Amino acid sequence: MPENMRDHTKLQNRIALITGAASGIGRATAELFAAEGARVVVADLDDAGASETVQRITQAGNKAIAVHADVSNAAQVEAAVARTIEAYGRIDILHNNAAMFLAKFLEDMSETEWDRLMAVNLKSIFLGVKHVVPHMKRQGGGCILNTASVESFLGQPMSAAYVASKGAVALLTKSLALDYARFNIRVNCIAPGAVETPMMWKAINAFPDPAAVEKLERAHVPIGRFLRPEEIAQAALYLASDAAAGVTGTALVVDGGYLAGYMV
Ligand code: NAD
Repeated sequence: MPENMRDHTKLQNRIALITGAASGIGRATAELFAAEGARVVVADLDDAGASETVQRITQAGNKAIAVHADVSNAAQVEAAVARTIEAYGRIDILHNNAAMFLAKFLEDMSETEWDRLMAVNLKSIFLGVKHVVPHMKRQGGGCILNTASVESFLGQPMSAAYVASKGAVALLTKSLALDYARFNIRVNCIAPGAVETPMMWKAINAFPDPAAVEKLERAHVPIGRFLRPEEIAQAALYLASDAAAGVTGTALVVDGGYLAGYMV
């Protein structure tokens, strides 16, 4: 169907709080959700990036606001949820997307770095769920999306803490789906492969020979290229929309075939 004949209403009037939406996958998802009729709350540490996301959304004629939040900080997550309710009166979609990457062997990692990574990548989901679920229960339902990774299912060199955090996200998702199914709250995660964002380049550039790692990474993607943030956003849109009303507790892998097996 031609683009101008499609009705962009898959998330009409839904309220979506998206963390890590100042950049990359979160920004692309915020833009797509808004284009599909949602009002989006862009939550991030990076205020300038969050403002830019909001600007891009409003320039396209859609609706969003920014809120400063470090997702590892209980008070700031609580405040971001409160701001969402204050602005829009409800919250239909919580997308726990913010995360950080640290390329280090565990022996070189400080306890502070380990705790920080786990707080940003994992505790953040606990905090988001804790503060959003009471609203979703009151409303009669909702949808929670977590950003996992192919590294939820596969190890990666020099990334043990990150991989451990993402492995936990996949099983946390399943358990939350069980806890909240009877409240009409669906909980799913998205497992992206290598997506061209600042985080991906940071990960590649952390290796002693980034060009070699990039070549190797590309060679491991059966479709022969890295993914674009917009392609991950489409998976998030599906899971957040009514088309996925029967889907909970799943991980939707969007990886260009990365997990399918070894390329020869
Ligand atoms: P990105 O660096 O482009 O965006 C991450 C965003 O999270 C940034 O805006 C950053 O400011 C924000 N953020 C970081 N720490 C935060 C904190 N404590 N509080 C609030 N915001 C914080 O990265 P991306 O690739 O778009 O990553 C998005 C998600 O996708 C992450 O969960 C990441 O682990 C996951 N992921 C990415 C890839 C990839 O190849 N890019 C692959 C698999 C999974």
